Amino acid sequence: MDLKNKIRVIEGFPTDGISFKDITTLLQDAEGLKQCINQMADKFKDLHVDIIVGPESRGFIFATPLAYLLGTGFVPVRKPGKLPAESIKYEYELEYGKDSLEIHKDSIKPGQKVLIIDDLLATGGTMVAAAKLVEQLGGEVVGLGFLIELMDLRGREKLSKYRVESLVKYN
Ligand code: 5GP
Repeated sequence: MDLKNKIRVIEGFPTDGISFKDITTLLQDAEGLKQCINQMADKFKDLHVDIIVGPESRGFIFATPLAYLLGTGFVPVRKPGKLPAESIKYEYELEYGKDSLEIHKDSIKPGQKVLIIDDLLATGGTMVAAAKLVEQLGGEVVGLGFLIELMDLRGREKLSKYRVESLVKYN
């Protein structure tokens, strides 16, 4: 199934010049959602994965059903101040200013093989942050999976030391 047909593109959202990839049209389509999770599982079927991590908030949508399908647990990476237990933080630069992400300190055990899943790869900043958090806890990042990859932004180059898989590509 061509998943791209099920993704709606909204020009000028959230600001002028942005061509936003709206995944809600794919999510509301029963067959589209099923195919999407199955295709992600297929991309990593050769890997042994102990646990799946997903960044807030759209990463949660794909990482959790994939974890269920692969028989692993799920770990959220969240914006600052959202996680209740002891957490570690990774700060990263944005075009204007800084952002940060957090993960619970006890969520990943040293040596665990970790797959990180998000909806979309743009510049790669979010995924670098998530991978660094996993590595700070001693996890081994064995793969990074995305529904969508925006090729022109070349996020893949920032993630060159990892295995990166995506299902739908845009220029
Ligand atoms: P990056 O950190 O790679 O520059 O940006 C990726 C993050 O931005 C992802 O977590 C994703 O949810 C969000 N994002 C950026 N642009 C889009 C878009 O067009 N559609 C969707 N669904 N998410 C986007």
